[in-house]
Amino acid sequence: MGDRKGHQPAGTVIVGASVAGVRAAQALRMEGYEGRIVVIGDEPDPPYDKPPLSKQYLSGPMDADGLLLISSDKAARDGIELRLGVPAAGLDPDTREVSLADGTTIGYDHCVIATGASARPSPWRPRSGIHLLRTRRDSEVLARALSRHRRVAVIGGGFIGAEVASTAAAKGCDVVVIDPLPNPLARSVGEELGRRLAGLHARHGVATRFGLGAEAVSGVEGDLTVTLTDGQTIGADVAVVGIGAVCNDGWLAGSGVPLDDGVVCDEFCRVRGVPSVFACGDVARWFHPRHQDLVRVEHWTNAVEQAACVAHNIVAGRPRAYEPVEYVWSDQYDIRLQVVGRPWNAACSETVGDTSSVPERMAVLYGDEAGVMTGAATLNWPRALVECRRLFGGGARMDVARQVLGALRVPALG
Ligand SMILES: Cc1cc2nc3c(=O)[nH]c(=O)nc-3n(C[C@H](O)[C@H](O)[C@H](O)COP(=O)(O)OP(=O)(O)OC[C@H]3O[C@@H](n4cnc5c(N)ncnc54)[C@H](O)[C@@H]3O)c2cc1C
Repeated sequence: MGDRKGHQPAGTVIVGASVAGVRAAQALRMEGYEGRIVVIGDEPDPPYDKPPLSKQYLSGPMDADGLLLISSDKAARDGIELRLGVPAAGLDPDTREVSLADGTTIGYDHCVIATGASARPSPWRPRSGIHLLRTRRDSEVLARALSRHRRVAVIGGGFIGAEVASTAAAKGCDVVVIDPLPNPLARSVGEELGRRLAGLHARHGVATRFGLGAEAVSGVEGDLTVTLTDGQTIGADVAVVGIGAVCNDGWLAGSGVPLDDGVVCDEFCRVRGVPSVFACGDVARWFHPRHQDLVRVEHWTNAVEQAACVAHNIVAGRPRAYEPVEYVWSDQYDIRLQVVGRPWNAACSETVGDTSSVPERMAVLYGDEAGVMTGAATLNWPRALVECRRLFGGGARMDVARQVLGALRVPALG
């Protein structure tokens, strides 16, 4: 279909039909792009969003329509062709073609790589009972397991693990969270807040084994034994393994696209050394001008903003460097955590707000040796987050940020 041999403009081929891919297609239309747009997705389901998969969709009663990123009607109205249920198998920069696993090829003028990431596979293989969480199907299978069983071991205390623990506890399960780090989320939110988040599990009746890794998982669903690195064992019906993600870049091997745990791009999200090919979302490792380093981000807002930047750079004569203020949110138990910038490895921190209320309404500001903000994290205080994002984006000093936040009213409980 639609190859270049007829000298017709081939348009833009987007590989990956989740948030980065779909938003790139929509942003192209918003930028006034009139060429053909084809979005290729390996999953048969209509494009869906992922954040609810560990939250409202896992707990119910949200239905699959609530996850939809674009309906087939809307796609048709916007002139976006969806080719779902068939993976891309390769990309040839010389002929400017993407080949699909069904043997067909599609020519492109521009190509956008948006193939995201997959859940890191479990190193433990009991006969059954291990769950990963990345796709809609994963969430549905896990939801059924949580309704059948009571004892849940969550291996990995990062964002996904903490959200699953929170959802499972709210469903009445007995949950234990295991992680080799003493303070698992400190990697993302800094030490101060990491400690508070570690304590959140206990406040909601969830047991933790932090500072201890899982060594083995044996048995079957309904009768699993998790052995920890200190030899203690935990009985569980279900084990959820949330130990990170791996990039979906294997299909590009041998294509000439530079890979380094993701697709390597310049500051304009153009794939290095491969003309007319861009990348966005979880799979993109691009040169971040502010950090002067190659960066890859696995958060929803980055996928959306990077997709918009790629669309702009395809359409506009003058490309725009992609230099976002990093942002992520997470809902766990009774808190909404919001993080901007890079709170980890900060030289100093300051806490503002109400730290004694339950739940807390507070912000932690993080800074470098020179007293310049490097990031911030808030609990249940969205107004402060908006200010932190603005202050951090403008390179504010810690004392200025403290003053601005100090003048905000902390919202009342309830
Ligand atoms: C359970 C869960 C909860 C989350 N919660 C939050 C949250 O609260 N806040 C937040 O900021 N972020 C959250 N995230 C992260 C956020 O969802 C991701 O950053 C976002 O989905 C990345 O979008 P993407 O389109 O780049 O990649 P993906 O969502 O990974 O989508 C890539 C798509 O490409 C497809 N694909 C892969 N290979 C091929 C191929 N060869 N051919 C065709 N298609 C292919 C994949 O199957 C997939 O459909 C969550 C993620 C998960 C899994």
